Parts: sequence; structure tokens; C-alpha cells
Amino acid sequence: MAITAIKGFNDILPGEVEKWQYIEATARRVFELYGFSEIRIPIMEKTELFARSIGDTTDIVEKEMYSFVDKGENRVTLRPEGTASVMRAFVEHKLYAQDPVARLYYMGPMFRYERPQKGRYRQFHQIGAEVTGVTSPLVDAQVLTMLCHFFAELGLTEPRLEINSLGCPDCRPAYRTALQEFLRARLDRLCDDCRRRIETNPLRALDCKATGCKEATMDAPSVLDSLCTACDDHFARTRSALEQTGTGYAINPRMVRGLDYYTRTTFELVTGLLGAQSAVAAGGRYDGLISEIGGPAIPGIGFAMGVERVALLLSERDFSRRPDLFVAALGDEARDAAFSLMSGLQRKGVSVEFDYEGKSLKSQLRRADKCNARFTLIIGGDELAAKSCPLMEMDAGIQEPVALSVEALCLRIRP
Ligand code: ATP
Ligand code: MG
Repeated sequence: MAITAIKGFNDILPGEVEKWQYIEATARRVFELYGFSEIRIPIMEKTELFARSIGDTTDIVEKEMYSFVDKGENRVTLRPEGTASVMRAFVEHKLYAQDPVARLYYMGPMFRYERPQKGRYRQFHQIGAEVTGVTSPLVDAQVLTMLCHFFAELGLTEPRLEINSLGCPDCRPAYRTALQEFLRARLDRLCDDCRRRIETNPLRALDCKATGCKEATMDAPSVLDSLCTACDDHFARTRSALEQTGTGYAINPRMVRGLDYYTRTTFELVTGLLGAQSAVAAGGRYDGLISEIGGPAIPGIGFAMGVERVALLLSERDFSRRPDLFVAALGDEARDAAFSLMSGLQRKGVSVEFDYEGKSLKSQLRRADKCNARFTLIIGGDELAAKSCPLMEMDAGIQEPVALSVEALCLRIRP
């Protein structure tokens, strides 16, 4: 029996991959406009890095990580997200010594053991960006503006931005306690997971998809009402900076995010078009993370988007590529000439398709049609002798003679 791929691990085939390349190229172009540089981080890290940064009681660390012991008895994990690795690299290479302000982006596969469904896979891809060293809310607004700019460049009106503030180590504990009390009074209406979460991670109950939990927490206290003056002011200034850049947003006080390291501003870009997989991108501020993993007390903020979900939002659009030219040839001599022409043209940046096997003219023209070439050239003995050949411009349906030379063809195809 033929061997298949692992469940939840996908191939991205030609036809689909062009969309991915477009998404990636757009991200690079937009992020670089905002001064970000790419960082490439390993696919595997010590398990400890994720346990410590993401948090022991989160879904990712509790149930979703691909962790194993390698041949050297090291506990390692396929990365479930990128921020922890980027910050590990930032600390390990002391990038902060030159300048605490780093603007970094990454793209690549992430791994989570989840139930595969549309928009949710076990190997999936993220494009993410991080800024370190700035506490000012102007940077929160800048990161969000960049993210929305990216989606606008893709021509998408979905997803929409939702923001919240989770406070800081000064004000969050009081909120946590108030929420715990609220949840304990409604214990019988909560799902098993949320009952357990009351003690370990009560904020997650606000994010639970179970109907009973949703109803029971409808009038839960809002984190925004318990922010300390500094966090309240930071959130207000983030909002006014977003208004300054014309970045539309809605406040969602129930958005809690699934990772422990977030402080203050958190956000999601959400869509109604992907069913339960409504978050296309998400992130927030993580002022305590860098010191948590052994670095200096430097603040940070960032996001990650799911490329599969962005690709689903773009699914209507056609990204297929067209070759510039198809060269058909009749007879061995013409095929040799066509082959030389093709090589010369490719070196000049013209994309050319050709039939290597010397099939019938009918079959060659079928292939030309299928690959949707912009121009077609049919070379036979007479054309070779005359050193001239009709060049057909397929969309316009016109044909004009052209000299059979790389230079003449280049001028006509790529003027
Ligand atoms: P969800 O609520 O959908 O599980 P999440 O909160 O776990 O998302 P993050 O950890 O914030 O997601 O990751 C950022 C983005 O990565 C998500 O918004 C989503 O687009 C994408 N993503 C996360 N998990 C998966 C997955 N298993 N398959 C595909 N994309 C994913
Ligand atoms: Mg998840």
C-alpha cells in the first residue's frame, strides 16, 4: 500500500502554492516598510522553553505539543508557536546589547496536536512579527496598523480587528480573584474543563465555546473595569493612536488569549467566514516574557497569523501563473532551433514552455492552450528557412511575423 502523509500534515501543491508565495511576499514587503527584519529560528527547541513561556496550564502546553525525548535523552518539542523562540534568540545572542529595540518577523511551520478540520491542522504555518524594547502605546498601535495594512494590501475586507487589555501583574491578580468568585458561584453551569480552569486559568472560561459556559459568563466582570491607572491610560492611548492612523477596531473585553505571557494590549483579527476557526491573526504585549526566559526586563509586543486561514480567505482568487510563450515545432530541425530559442529567451527573463517529446502539432497546441501562454510561436521548415515566423498573441487573437531571434522575440514579448 502506498504511504500517505501524517494526519493533519498537508502538502501545498503547485496551483495552491502561488497563493502562499503571494501572501509571503506581501508580508515581507509590508513588514519591511515598517522597519522589520526577518529572523529564522529552529523548528525544535528545548521543551522547557515553551513550558516556561507559554504557561503550564494553557491548552498548548497541556495537550497540544509534539514533545519527545531524543537519542541524547534531551526533552525537545516541535515549536507550537514562534514568539518564545524569537525571544530566546534575542536573549541568547544579546541582540539588546546594541539596541533594545528590535523589530523581527518570521514565517514557517508550527506544530500542534489538535483535531484536524478546516482551518485547523497539526502542521500549520504562521507569519509573525515582534517588537521589543518599547513600552509606548504608539508601538501597540503601529503593530496593529501594520497588520491591518497587510490585510488591506491583500485586498481583504475581512478579518476585523478586536482589542482588549489584560492588565499587568499589579492589577490582573485582583481581576483573577473576582472572576474566580464569579465562576465558583456558577459552578453547576460550567463544563468540566472550565471547572478545572477556575483554579488554574480562570480567564480561559470567558473564551470557552460550550453554550452553558457562554451563558453562565455573559455578565462576568470585565477585565477593563479592573485595570490600574497605568494600564487604563496605556489602553486609552493605544486606542487614540489607532484612531490617528485610521485603523478601525472594536473592543472585546472577553478576549483573553490562550497564552500566559500576555500583558496589557491583546488583539485578534477575526472573521465570520471560517466557522469555528474565527481567529486569523492574534497577539499582544508580553512585557514579562523576556525576563521570564532569563533575559533583561525588556518589554515586547507581537502577533502571529495563520497562513492557511489567510489562504482560505483568498480562496476565490486565481493566482495561477501564465508562461510568456509557448514554442511549437514541426520536425527535428525546427525542434532543435526552438530548443535553442527557448534557452536564449529564458536567460533573458522570458518564461517559455515547449514540448520535449516532439508530439503532433495538434497535441502541442493543446498543451499551449492548457498552459495559457500569452504568446505562441509555431516553427516549421519554411519558417526556419525564412528566419521569420508568425507570433500569435493569444488574448488579442492577432498574429504578426517576427524574426526568429532571441532579441526580436524579447522586444515583442517583453518590450
Ligand atoms: P484558535 O483559537 O483557533 O485555536 P489560537 O488562539 O490557538 O487559535 P494562536 O496561538 O494565537 O491561535 O496562533 C495565531 C494564529 O495561528 C491563529 O489566529 C490561527 O490563525 C493560527 N493557528 C493556530 N492554531 C492553528 C492550527 N492548529 N491550524 C491552523 N492555524 C492555526
Ligand atoms: Mg488553539
